[in-house]
Amino acid sequence: MTEQTEAVTRDNGPEPFRLGYCLLVSAIGIAGIIAIALIDQYLGAETRSIPVIAAMDYVAHLATTFILLAAFLRVVSYYFLAGAVVGSLILDVGHIPILLSDIEFTQITSRPSSHSLLVALVFILPILLARGRYQALFVGICFGNAFHLFRDAATGGIPLWWPFSASSVELAYAPYVMTLTIFALMPMAGAFIAKSNVSVIMTDSSRTHAKPDQSPREQQNQSSA
Ligand SMILES: [Zn+2]
Repeated sequence: MTEQTEAVTRDNGPEPFRLGYCLLVSAIGIAGIIAIALIDQYLGAETRSIPVIAAMDYVAHLATTFILLAAFLRVVSYYFLAGAVVGSLILDVGHIPILLSDIEFTQITSRPSSHSLLVALVFILPILLARGRYQALFVGICFGNAFHLFRDAATGGIPLWWPFSASSVELAYAPYVMTLTIFALMPMAGAFIAKSNVSVIMTDSSRTHAKPDQSPREQQNQSSA
């Protein structure tokens, strides 16, 4: 494992395929999807105050990030997770100048130029310069940015190609929800696959002696003993 990979993943956390844990994460993920759907319905029903829009949209963004990382929560580093949380919200800083300049704020369908690919790519530069944990932090920020753009594209559109084009890039809402559903169910599916002893990450040597509910790391330890 390279130094960069070690910074993004962590090797001292609990095992990723415990059935109870995975069921809990998937259940929280499904609850998150329901919450997101209710939030979007609430925000889309009629004009809401800016603080309400901001607060509820932040909750939906954080829920989106949690769901898309649900299957990887126990293997990615805390620095990566912290970066993903920051990245899932930071692009909305672009709303502040608009609010301060008294330009009309039109629900969550109006996104500033901070929601562009160019701005998101700026965060890749620190990845090239930083090392270790800080590199993991910026990798997490980039993932968070991508998740943020994904949700905003599905809930009104984003100026993805700014400044080269002012057109709004939009995704349908249904694929957004379907993607979240797939990712939310991944922990549960992974646990059942591991429990069925058909996990593709098992090594040949551990496959022979593995117990159905053993994690890959336990199987590796057993085979090397
Ligand atoms: Zn946004």
